[in-house]
Amino acid sequence: MSTLRPRLLIAVLAAATAFGVSGSAGAESAPPPSGDGPIRGVVLAVHGGAGSLPRGSITPERERAYRDGLEKALRTGYRLLADGRPSLDAVEAAVRVLEDDPLFNAGKGAVFNTDAEHELDASIMDGRDLRSGAVAGVHNTKNPISLARMVMERSPHVLMAGAGADTFALRNGVPYTTQDYYFTQRRWDSLMEAKQPDAEPKEGGGTVGAVAVDRSREVAAATSTGGLTNKLVGRVGDSPIIGAGTYANSRTVAVSCTGTGEVFIRGVAAYDISAIMEYTGAPVRRAASKVVNEKIPALGATGGVIALDPRGTLATPHSTPGLINGYITRDGRVVTRVYNDETPAG
Ligand code: ASP
Repeated sequence: MSTLRPRLLIAVLAAATAFGVSGSAGAESAPPPSGDGPIRGVVLAVHGGAGSLPRGSITPERERAYRDGLEKALRTGYRLLADGRPSLDAVEAAVRVLEDDPLFNAGKGAVFNTDAEHELDASIMDGRDLRSGAVAGVHNTKNPISLARMVMERSPHVLMAGAGADTFALRNGVPYTTQDYYFTQRRWDSLMEAKQPDAEPKEGGGTVGAVAVDRSREVAAATSTGGLTNKLVGRVGDSPIIGAGTYANSRTVAVSCTGTGEVFIRGVAAYDISAIMEYTGAPVRRAASKVVNEKIPALGATGGVIALDPRGTLATPHSTPGLINGYITRDGRVVTRVYNDETPAG
């Protein structure tokens, strides 16, 4: 858990006022330590993919880099929320930070497909009115999440794919990039490993997402990924599929998923969490856990989600050993969770 540095206190207090928190922004509204029970008072959460990161499996430098990346994304989105901007702005901004961070499998640092190319998927959804935008298989867009938002706001469509989506980006001034921009040695090595004759099928990992709630209690969700290492050219996962990898409805919940995309599509995972809440009145934690720990495993896959309800209650269930994630509360406290033992599975 990141500690609250004294020099941040003034900013924290100012931000607490911006969110309408009365009285002192002190210990009473502190989040519970990661462990049992729902996490309350959250305004923005991000994830950096489901997978497994046992303590000791990475260097302290890499651990720091993960935590710094998550924290930067959280603080970037939080500033917007504290300024009174909508949750849609916060999730887009948070995901952009993670797309620009080479550690994560989205934007720079995305994995390679079978032909050693990068094909990127992203989607965004506004819980106010269920408007949404998504892109699949883009090759030359620096920040796919911003293109997804542009599809939502500047086209009559919801989902655009491939070359047409990249051209739409160019026409709308979304920064273009060549494929080598996305390159990282680590992802290249993973591709080479995956191509060994005796290689185990590669899991994903490193997909990013964000969920947020703003002052008006409107929620939004966003997800971005390079997909799975060594995926077939043209393969599209759940991340750009509204209802599968991303969903937001201000009457229920905002959800961003990570895991085996094919199964999250078949299970319509993100929407299912919202539907369970809408039709049964279940709280977010129970609904998210039912889908992630029962329904998706029953279809043969593992993964995780971040799910945030309009009251600021966060659930982060996962059936993988871990889920890289972090959240920031109304009063500006940041918690980052990198290792398996930091995030309860339920
Ligand atoms: N869900 C992503 C996909 O299938 C991968 C992941 O989350 O690891 O493309």
